[in-house]
Amino acid sequence: MDLKDLYRDVILDHNRNPRNFGPLPSASADAEGFNPLCGDRLNLHLRVVDERVEDVRFEGQGCAISTASASLMTEAIKGKTRAEALALFERVHALLTEDAAPADESLGKLCALSGVREFPARVKCASLCWHTLASALNSPEPRSVPAVSTE
Ligand code: ZN
Repeated sequence: MDLKDLYRDVILDHNRNPRNFGPLPSASADAEGFNPLCGDRLNLHLRVVDERVEDVRFEGQGCAISTASASLMTEAIKGKTRAEALALFERVHALLTEDAAPADESLGKLCALSGVREFPARVKCASLCWHTLASALNSPEPRSVPAVSTE
């Protein structure tokens, strides 16, 4: 199995069985994201306590890439501090958009998202949840922040 097959399997798996999918009644921040190019909609729920992401869940409807990306993201940021989660956003954004970006092995399963670089129209599908996360984490008094659009 080559790397491409592995990446595809990770995406398919997370689309079929999204991790951390559902409401989060104890959320301290909620953010909405919409990708008009594809129609992906995302509601992200975060529970941030003492600058740490204690829990994260997402809801919404989108294509396989957007669902898998959100699922992978929730796994990756749970337990991280706000600063660590924002740093991860920067690294994933580079992974998705910079052709010359070297494969960052420390990103682990998130590397599966690098496949979208071959399909520019899908980059926004993969980055939607990350932009939504950044907007939720950057909002000073997060409770409900306005919808972000990646357009
Ligand atoms: Zn999409």
